[in-house]
Amino acid sequence: MMDFKDKKVLVIGLGASGCAAAGFLAGKGAIVRVTENAGGPDIGRRAETLKSPRISIETGGHTKGFCADAEIAVVSPGVDVKSRELTAVLPEGIRIIGELELGFMFCPAPVVAVTGTNGKSTTVELIGRILSFSGKHVVVCGNIGPPFTGRVEELRRDSIAVVEVSSFQLETIRDFRPEIAVLLNVTEDHYDRHRSYNEYKKEKFRIFMNQDKNDWAVVYSDMRADGSLKGIKSRLAFFGRDKGMVKIKGADIIAEAGPGEPGFIMKTSEVPLRGGHNLDNVLCSILVSRIMGVDSGPVRKALSTFKGLEHRFESVGFLNGVEYIDDSKATNIDATKRALESLNKKTVLIAGGRDKGGDYRSILPLIREKVKMLVVMGESGPKIKEIFADAVPVIGAGTMKDAVVKASSNA
Ligand code: ADP
Repeated sequence: MMDFKDKKVLVIGLGASGCAAAGFLAGKGAIVRVTENAGGPDIGRRAETLKSPRISIETGGHTKGFCADAEIAVVSPGVDVKSRELTAVLPEGIRIIGELELGFMFCPAPVVAVTGTNGKSTTVELIGRILSFSGKHVVVCGNIGPPFTGRVEELRRDSIAVVEVSSFQLETIRDFRPEIAVLLNVTEDHYDRHRSYNEYKKEKFRIFMNQDKNDWAVVYSDMRADGSLKGIKSRLAFFGRDKGMVKIKGADIIAEAGPGEPGFIMKTSEVPLRGGHNLDNVLCSILVSRIMGVDSGPVRKALSTFKGLEHRFESVGFLNGVEYIDDSKATNIDATKRALESLNKKTVLIAGGRDKGGDYRSILPLIREKVKMLVVMGESGPKIKEIFADAVPVIGAGTMKDAVVKASSNA
C-alpha cells in the first residue's frame, strides 16, 4: 500500500470525486494541492468544504507554479489528462492515478464492480440491497454518489464494496481488480468524448483487465459470442432473460447453471421494478449474489421491496387519468428505447438535451408504435424533430416547464 505521509499530491478537478480524494489524502497525511479549471461561486463553495492546513486549492485554471512540485497526481473521471492545459503544467513523467484506483489501493474488502452503458446505478443498488439483506456489511459507492475514497475508511475485511464504475474511470486504472466485475451492456453513448464504439467498448472491458481465475466476470448473455470475451481470464457467468445462468422461464425467475443450487428463485410478478431492462438488472444482481453465496430468501426480500431509483423510469403520479413518468436519466438512445419498450399505452414523449451522437433512427419504429406526440427541447431538439417529424406530430418547447405543460395538454 502506498504511503502518502508528507507526499506532495496533486488532485486534478474539484468535482465530487476530487473533493473526496483530497479529503481522504489529507487524512493519510499527504500535502494536497487541488487544481480546478472552473471558477465561480459553486466551485468556491466546494473549496470552502475542504478547508484544512494540509490542502491548498487553485480554481479558475491550472498553473505551472502550483502544480510543479507534485510527486503524484490523482484525477477525477471528468478530467482529460491529455488536454493541452494539463500537459503544459504537469511535471514530466509524473504518475497519474484515478480516484477509483486510489480507493482500491486502500480497500480491505472484496470489490464488486459494475460497469455498462445503462443500468449501473440501479444494479449496484440492487446488489447492495441483496447483500445487506443477507446480513453482510455493504458499502455502495462510486459513480452513483459517494465516491469510493469517500467511503473506503468504513470498509473492513469482511465488508463488501459495491462500486459503480464508468468507462471514464476505467481509462485510468492500473491495478484495480474487482473479485466480481459486471458488464451490463455496451450500446452507443458518449460519442462526444470516446472516439468510436470499439474504443468505448474496449474501455469497458478494462474492468476485467487484472482479474485472474479466482475472480468472476458477469456479462450480459447477448454478448456471449463477442470476441472480446476471449481475453478474460476470470470465470465467466452470464445473465439474461432467455439464455442466462439466471433467467426467466414463464412467470418465474430461475437459476439453471452456474454458482449456487439450481431452481426457482421468485416470480417475476413479485418484482415491483418495471420494464424488461430492469428485469435484466434484477437477473444480474441475483447472479452476483449467488456467486457470493447468498440464498434466495434475502434475494426475494430485497427485490420485492425495491421500487427503483428516482429519475429512472420513475412513475411520479397520475393526473386526470394520465400517468407521468420521470426518466430524465435516460440520456442515450438505448435507455430511451428500453423505456419505450416498457410502455403499454400511447405516450407523449419529451426528448432532447445534449446530443451525444448515436443512431436516432434506430428507434423510429418504436416511436411510430408507442409515441403519439413528441415534445422536443434543448440542443438536440431540432435534430430529433427532423428525424421523427414524418412519423409523429412534433412540437418544440423552450423549458422543461413549457415541455411538461405542452405534453400534459396533449396527453
Ligand atoms: P447508469 O447508472 O448506467 O446511468 P441508471 O440505473 O441510472 O444507469 O439508469 C439510467 C437510464 O437507463 C434510465 O433511463 C434507466 O431506465 C435506463 N436503464 C436502466 N437499466 C437499463 C438496462 N439494463 N439497459 C438499458 N437501459 C437501462
